[in-house]
Amino acid sequence: AIRIRGLHKSFGNEPVLRGIDLEVAEGEVVCVIGPSGSGKSTLLRCVNLLEEPDTGEVVVGGTEITDPDVDIDAARRRIGMVFQHFHLFPHLDVTANLTLPQRRVLGRDRAHAAAVARERLERVGLADKAHAYPGRLSGGQQQRVAIARALAMDPEVMLFDEPTSALDPELVGEVLAVMRELAGDGMTMMVVTHEMGFAREAADRVVFLDGGEIVEQGPAARVVGEPRHERTRAFLRRVL
Ligand code: ATP
Ligand code: MG
Repeated sequence: AIRIRGLHKSFGNEPVLRGIDLEVAEGEVVCVIGPSGSGKSTLLRCVNLLEEPDTGEVVVGGTEITDPDVDIDAARRRIGMVFQHFHLFPHLDVTANLTLPQRRVLGRDRAHAAAVARERLERVGLADKAHAYPGRLSGGQQQRVAIARALAMDPEVMLFDEPTSALDPELVGEVLAVMRELAGDGMTMMVVTHEMGFAREAADRVVFLDGGEIVEQGPAARVVGEPRHERTRAFLRRVL
């Protein structure tokens, strides 16, 4: 589970997050939507400490990661992150992309890491690409490898920042299908996305962020289908 309380973050004089309170329960899927520049990526990056919050509290799986005494590396290990661009290691094959972080960060031995890699690749439907190099894969396949790599670390929560935005339209579906399955398996997920269909079907809750504030949140069908706030309506008119 994730708990965010009173989170503020500025860059220079510009406040980007102005007091975010948000909880994601165990097994819950929360989609974060909002215009460009509203602070969605900054919010996710504060959850795994890629950005340091100015004030406020972030608790992931019972550990307050904003505690100055926390072991940041240990805390980050529990958080899987998938970005718009896949950041795979181009000089390593798919299996090595999955086993290297397990061995380096978790200290798993070769056999253990390889077994986990096989299982995660099966889960994203890429068992047959175990020895391919990333450059030989489609964007959709590369993103599925990136998801499998994050899952290989046995994260407690998964954060996704526009995972399908860089993909050709015909490749979006296969990535969303993997994410839907993950959601169905009970993974705790926070997903920044412009895919309103995914938000409506797969999210338990949708959060609309604008100007660094949560303007509106609630059940996906309600927020996307019957938004209450004028800013939410204006945004949805533009993206739907
Ligand atoms: P998009 O939909 O375009 O990805 P976003 O909602 O993810 O937008 P953020 O990337 O969180 O928005 O950015 C919010 C604001 O913070 C923007 O005005 C951006 O220019 C600013 N910002 C983000 N990161 C930094 C940084 N490292 N240094 C300075 N300003 C930043
Ligand atoms: Mg962003």
